Amino acid sequence: MSNVIGIDLGTTHSLCAVFREDGPVLIPNLHGGFLTPSVVGMLESGEIVVGSAAKELRVTHPERTASCFKRYMGSDRTISLGKNTLRPYELSSLVLKSLVSDAEKFLGTSVLEAVITVPAYFNEHQRQATKVAGELAGLRVKRIINEPTAAALVYGFHARDQERQLCVIDLGGGTFDVTVMEVFEGTLEIRATAGESMLGGEDFTDRIVSAVLQNEKLALEVAELKHPLRVARLRDECEQAKRKLSNEEVVRIRLPDLDGTIPENPKEFRVDRKAFADLSEALMQRISTPIDRALRDARLSPQEIDDVLLVGGATRMQLLRDHVASYFGKPPIMEFNPDEVVALGAAIQAALIENDTAVNDMVMTDVCPFTLGIEIAKEFGGQTTAGYFHPILHRNSTIPISREEVFVTVSPNQHQVEVRVFQGDARKVVDNIALGSLLVKDIAPGPAGQPIYIRFTYDLNGLLEVEAYSTGGTKHRTVLTNHVHGLNEDQIKDAIDRLQALKIYPRENLEYQKLARFCERMLGEINREERKQLDRALDYFEDAIASSNKEECERAEEILKAVLAELGIEYFENDDE
Ligand code: AMP
Repeated sequence: MSNVIGIDLGTTHSLCAVFREDGPVLIPNLHGGFLTPSVVGMLESGEIVVGSAAKELRVTHPERTASCFKRYMGSDRTISLGKNTLRPYELSSLVLKSLVSDAEKFLGTSVLEAVITVPAYFNEHQRQATKVAGELAGLRVKRIINEPTAAALVYGFHARDQERQLCVIDLGGGTFDVTVMEVFEGTLEIRATAGESMLGGEDFTDRIVSAVLQNEKLALEVAELKHPLRVARLRDECEQAKRKLSNEEVVRIRLPDLDGTIPENPKEFRVDRKAFADLSEALMQRISTPIDRALRDARLSPQEIDDVLLVGGATRMQLLRDHVASYFGKPPIMEFNPDEVVALGAAIQAALIENDTAVNDMVMTDVCPFTLGIEIAKEFGGQTTAGYFHPILHRNSTIPISREEVFVTVSPNQHQVEVRVFQGDARKVVDNIALGSLLVKDIAPGPAGQPIYIRFTYDLNGLLEVEAYSTGGTKHRTVLTNHVHGLNEDQIKDAIDRLQALKIYPRENLEYQKLARFCERMLGEINREERKQLDRALDYFEDAIASSNKEECERAEEILKAVLAELGIEYFENDDE
């Protein structure tokens, strides 16, 4: 049995699984749950915490926490964490390291290899940044696979003998993907994929936050700059409200004070399902477009889809479920937990790579989700105009795929050509996403029209290699893998140094930290008398943690939990609840 783990590296939480004899199983984290918040925090001491403890810290110390960094994977953006400035892939590597530690404890052996999932609509830069994050966490990334494909593998694993058309709707914290596929005799054939990498559950939360602030004539961005503590607490309130709206008709949001605490008689903002639907109207409209496109590319109508599978925590929204049910004319299937199915599928993919006998009757084919091509010049009325996009690999082509096309030079004795690579479907390159470029330097002298051969190869990890050469010239190659905005060996070394310089809080005390940070958050939500009581018990607990005396810690923990119970504050040991 292999120990290659499957990892779902999510915007709001991450989890991992491994393939055992009877199928994939989830790996618990040190809090006993499966979901580890994708949040990195820095304690007052400067030590780094990952997961639940960091998530608690986010409300009281937003300046010392980083979350939702998956949204910026593959970009040049840096994120500050206290005095440190980190890149999204560095922060992700800390989350991955935490998952690996849990997996090693669970398996009783070291974990060196993994399959990591990404949204189908992640572009080359984003995929490569994910791979780098894995490597920085000490993992050999055996494959990067698309999240909906992973979910479909779980479905296919359980429905191997059936013949069905499936549509996977995947709305995570920050991304939205739709995948249409066919399952027959153990074969899973992805037929089309579409999506948006900037649309997710967090946008729905932001809509509620904005509406509350708008009531006070404040724009979210301005409020965030002026009163970060207030917005952090408000976002937490709105997030809870959004989740409650999945089961309840009406919710109330308490308006925090400027210092980020909830006053004794807070102003309240009432939101019912109808109001939430109105606030989310524009976002819901954006949901339909990729579904239309994926079905069109797969040449299927909504009625021809046998099953709709929901993936990603945000598909718990009733609003989304109603929308999907009315679009397809049938309710989605509820067999699988939308938070867990992607990690389970990644573990099945790991088993497929390792040729595990339990899956040797399964075959899967995937597609390239975007059109990829180069910039060319066109001739109009004798005049050459650059800036036009020429597709080489069309979206939804089955992968792996390799295609070569021949282009020509535009001027006499042209000795070099810059091959600029783009992703998208627009006619002009300015409207597409620039992925990188490659210089073909040694073109032999001659009239315009010298051939330049350009080959695009898209592999199973969704990574693109571009090769270009002129007749008799050298082959120039760029793997857009090595291209994460210039991440060369020095930069990787730099990232390793930066990560090594971080002081990581000892994992054995993380449960205590989670409880302490939770209480710190609750201090801002209770009245003065209650606050005094909780504050005292928390001081005692912090003192015990600092003493590193296990018995004392346990005693203080017991007292603290008793105080919480007395105040009627519910504390969850893990983030699955
Ligand atoms: P991810 O971790 O990327 O799968 O996405 C988690 C997203 O799901 C976040 O935006 C959450 O707010 C959202 N989410 C989780 N549970 C619920 C729920 N019960 N109702 C609505 N949204 C939820």
